[in-house]
Parts: sequence; structure tokens; C-alpha cells
Amino acid sequence: MLNRRKFLEKAAAAGMLSLVPGMLKANTEAIQNPLKKSLPAFISTWNHGIAANAEGMKVLSSGGSVVDAVENAVMLIEADPENASVGIGGWPDREGIVTLDASIMGPDGNAGSVCFLQNILHPVSVARLVMEKTPHVILAGEGALLFARQSGFKEKNLLTPKAKEAWEKWLKESKYDPVINWENEPNKYHDTIGLLAIDQKGDLAGACTTSGLAFKMHGRVGDSPIIGAGLFVDNEVGAATATGMGELVLKTLGSFLVVELMRNGRNPMEACKEAVLRIVKKDPENVKRQVGFIALGKNGETGAFSLQPGFNYALYQEGINEMFDSKSYY
Ligand code: ASP
Repeated sequence: MLNRRKFLEKAAAAGMLSLVPGMLKANTEAIQNPLKKSLPAFISTWNHGIAANAEGMKVLSSGGSVVDAVENAVMLIEADPENASVGIGGWPDREGIVTLDASIMGPDGNAGSVCFLQNILHPVSVARLVMEKTPHVILAGEGALLFARQSGFKEKNLLTPKAKEAWEKWLKESKYDPVINWENEPNKYHDTIGLLAIDQKGDLAGACTTSGLAFKMHGRVGDSPIIGAGLFVDNEVGAATATGMGELVLKTLGSFLVVELMRNGRNPMEACKEAVLRIVKKDPENVKRQVGFIALGKNGETGAFSLQPGFNYALYQEGINEMFDSKSYY
């Protein structure tokens, strides 16, 4: 027998949706991004997700673990100097200093993160070592740098001439007002990469790495390194990660919320949507900021939802690595 979703997909294909009064609105999301359950799968935020997904799949196919895969996938983006929101080339804070936040979680429920880290090209790799080699979850600032140094990481100036120029231009007005989707202007800006993966066995992992909001106050830490806010993985249920205005995600513990909603039966897209609705309800800033969530269920099902239009994500599943536009509240 056809289930409701299958029926709606078939009805959509046959142009019959006008015959299904009251069901059209609620189910368009499912139709536009039909359930996909094949494993392995990678889902990640924004256009750079395509390259990251491909890198992750390469690592998995050559025998790496799902944690190796998510780490290496986002490292590729950290190393890209053209990317203005991750790793080298990231736009600095108000003082002209690039400060990085990153987190990682694996299928065993372990988690590691670094925040306010400076001069280290691969914060996600430091986060992984925090997870695997220390009794802690988060290391910050000087302490994170000391740990990185002691672990053999070399320091490097991450402020590129292009980022310095952008900061000097910004200094003239010094107006702090993050613009919706500025990250997505073609060839200009990018944004945090949050990436989730599930391997052939159904084990989940995730990683999230960013230089945070450009021209933030010195010392500001966003959602990305906060476990449960910018990233959460529960190997029994699923995984979620966030991008956009970190303050809104922090105040609602968005990624944890998405995973808990999945635990309670929502599919990934419904769960992302409900986390966005929570922000709409709780935070008046929602009207002028962007937040996007992506999620991956234990069965390989994926979904996304954002506050504002313009958020997109990359999905690699069933051998196809492609971009999707997220549905949004506004
Ligand atoms: N969520 C990141 C932060 O607030 C930035 C972003 O994704 O745009 O630091």
C-alpha cells in the first residue's frame, strides 16, 4: 500500500496535488526533498559543502573512519584562503585578529572543541585531539593554542591580505550589522562549514568549523564550538549542525533540539523547521538574521530548514553530490 509520503510524491509527479486539498502546504517539503535512505551519506552547509562532501567520501571509501571523514572534509575548507568565514582567509574580528571556533563529534558520543583559537590552520584537528587525548570537551584561547603547540601544530598567520583589506574597509564605518546571506554572494563570501556523515554501518559523526562572524567583538565565541548549539551527534538518533547568527542558535541550543525532536519522531526536515520556529518565537532578532540547520537521521534521511531564504546545502548520497536550496520560514 502507498504510504502518505509516497502517495504525495506520486501525486506531485502526476500533477495531481490540486486534488489533495489541505495536504499540499504541509507536504511540499517532503516532495521537494524526497526521503533518501541510502548509506553512506554526507550533508553539509553552503556551496563549499560539495567539495567537502567529496573529500569525506574519498576518505570513507579508502577505509577511513567516519570521524576521519568528517575531519578531513572540513579541513579542505579550512585550508582554502578564498573562504572568508573558515580557517585561513577568514575575516577577522574588530581588532583585526582572526579567531577560530571548531567542534567535532563521533559515534561513541565523544565530543571535542576549540574556541577563540588563533594562528592554527586546522582548528578541527585540534578539536579532535581535545576529544581523543584529553579528559575535556572544550579548550579556549591561550589554552587551546598551548595544547595545539604541544600537540605539534605549527603557528601560521591566518590574516590574508584580502581579509585585512576587508577589515580596513570596515574600520572606516565600524558598523556591526551582519547581513543576511552575505556569505552566499557568488565568489565573494562563504560561511561556516557544518558537515554531517553516516557511514555504511550507520555510524554518525559531524564537524563544524568557522572564523565566526566577521568583525565580531574580540573574544566572542559563536555556536559552532558549543556542543549542542552548532553541532550535535547522537548515534542512536541522528545529527544536526547549524550556520548563521550563532547567538540565536546558542540561546535555543539548536542542534541538540533538532536531534531531540528527531528522537521524538520528527523527520530531519520537520525537526530543523521546529528549531527555526523556536528561534522565531523566542528571539526578536529573527526577522533580520539568518540561521540554517541541516540534519541527518540514523536511517540516512536528511533535511534542512532556515530562517531566511538563501540558505543552501550539499548532499552526497546514492553516488550523487548536489546542492539543494533549503526551505525557509520567511
Ligand atoms: N554560526 C557562526 C557563528 O555565529 C557563523 C556563521 O555560520 O555564519 O560564529
